[in-house]
Amino acid sequence: MIYDHRMSSPNPLARLCLHTITTKPWSTEECISRYSAAGVEGITFWRYNLEGRSPSAVGRQAREAGLEVVSLCRGGFFPGRTSIERQAAVDENRRCIEEARELGAPHIVLVCGAVPGQALAESRKQIAEGIAAVLPEAEAAGVKLAIEPLHPMYADDRSAVNTMSQANEICDVLGSPAMVGIAADVYHIWWDPELEAQIQQTAEAKRLFAFHLCDWKTPTTDFLNDRGLMGEGCIPISQISRWVDATGYSGMREIEIFSNRYWAMDQAEWLSRIVQSYQSLYSSRA
Ligand code: ZN
Repeated sequence: MIYDHRMSSPNPLARLCLHTITTKPWSTEECISRYSAAGVEGITFWRYNLEGRSPSAVGRQAREAGLEVVSLCRGGFFPGRTSIERQAAVDENRRCIEEARELGAPHIVLVCGAVPGQALAESRKQIAEGIAAVLPEAEAAGVKLAIEPLHPMYADDRSAVNTMSQANEICDVLGSPAMVGIAADVYHIWWDPELEAQIQQTAEAKRLFAFHLCDWKTPTTDFLNDRGLMGEGCIPISQISRWVDATGYSGMREIEIFSNRYWAMDQAEWLSRIVQSYQSLYSSRA
């Protein structure tokens, strides 16, 4: 039998990306240096990381530390009751696109928005119109837009796009396959009976831009900030990962965990737990 060193010992942290919000107590600079030292390969910045800083300098700093800048979170929140509100959202998204361009982030994650009391179908129409309005700037900047379907519990005020299917419909309407795609986050879509087929369809349309990971705790004590570390909840992460891998997706696996409990921990200890969890999930397949 031929011994192939590469096959037998793949980098256990290959394709591991962290969202900076996962270690929210750390500054932008600490995230960069700590992730790099831990062997993390990619970083997704949140816009608060850029406050008071030059986005291009932050991007350069990350790349010099050996990190790939994966994306910028987040744009979106397009729906509004008035045209003035909707225009303000378009303007804000144009600023976000410009920041992503300067940062060197290939895509922006869109949390698309919703207005309490407004019909979800109307909000989805406004989301498609909002994305269409910023598409020329995104194209000019070379920054892709990744619609992130959100769990239906957020349909009141965070997103009227709650399934991969709805996200794909908006992509179809926009008809710009190179620029508009989907960020698939297991927290939001794990329950969807169409998930496997939707992942396939999204990838076939070349729209699978990102894959986000965390877990769903039982009980969940806070619907925003009580997300779990992979392995401590009920999401079939290995199975969903196999579906994603089967499409040929070779992008980063992005850890994005909002958690008051973990933010209160020592963040170095928290990072090492994330790394361990990732290794046990993926060490047998790069
Ligand atoms: Zn996400």
